[in-house]
Amino acid sequence: MLIRNSSFDLERQNREVESRIVVALERISEAFRVLLWKESKVNTLSPIQIQILIFLRFHSREKSRISYLAKEFNMTKATVSESVKGLLMKSLVKKQPDVSDTRSYTLSLTEAGEQTASNVSAFSSFIEQPISQLDPAQKDAMLGGLLKLIHDLNRMGIITVQRMCYTCAYYRSDNGSHYCRLLQAALFDRDIRLDCPEHQAVTDPPPPAQILR
Ligand code: SF4
Repeated sequence: MLIRNSSFDLERQNREVESRIVVALERISEAFRVLLWKESKVNTLSPIQIQILIFLRFHSREKSRISYLAKEFNMTKATVSESVKGLLMKSLVKKQPDVSDTRSYTLSLTEAGEQTASNVSAFSSFIEQPISQLDPAQKDAMLGGLLKLIHDLNRMGIITVQRMCYTCAYYRSDNGSHYCRLLQAALFDRDIRLDCPEHQAVTDPPPPAQILR
């Protein structure tokens, strides 16, 4: 039988740095949960409705579909549809028919939705503020470690949608250096993007020749 170790076993946790990092990440995820709940209560919306509004506020129209949102938040389409129904009733989002498929539609924010999304998205500033106090080397080490962890969790199938450089068709790596073929520029570790609007999944059709600069 496979023996799996628990990071929450205090003996192990106090012995292994990996366990303490896992528990630290769990505490940070708790901070997100608490902050999201606060926004939920203030705005009489559920946490997932808040997350949908924030996602729509900062992502392109082709990603604003129920199926994409379901993958993004690791939920069923039925659960996301139910949350969106509430947002439609509150006139915070609206449906826009898909010209290429009459059965399909994308979502966009109404004016009230834009306002709410802008307000609620600022909840992250409570977490960003203490990070801003770290010195540059600490920030770089933290970012590098987190990016690798996210990439590995994605490869293990635990996190689904990712729009980071490591999974992008434009990304090239050589002996630890990074290069973006779209930007035609070398990327330092701190430039690696976590959610890039130009991200092209390696399995997607070949990207059109397009240069940003
Ligand atoms: S297009 Fe974006 S995600 Fe892809 S390699 Fe360049 S910066 Fe990274």
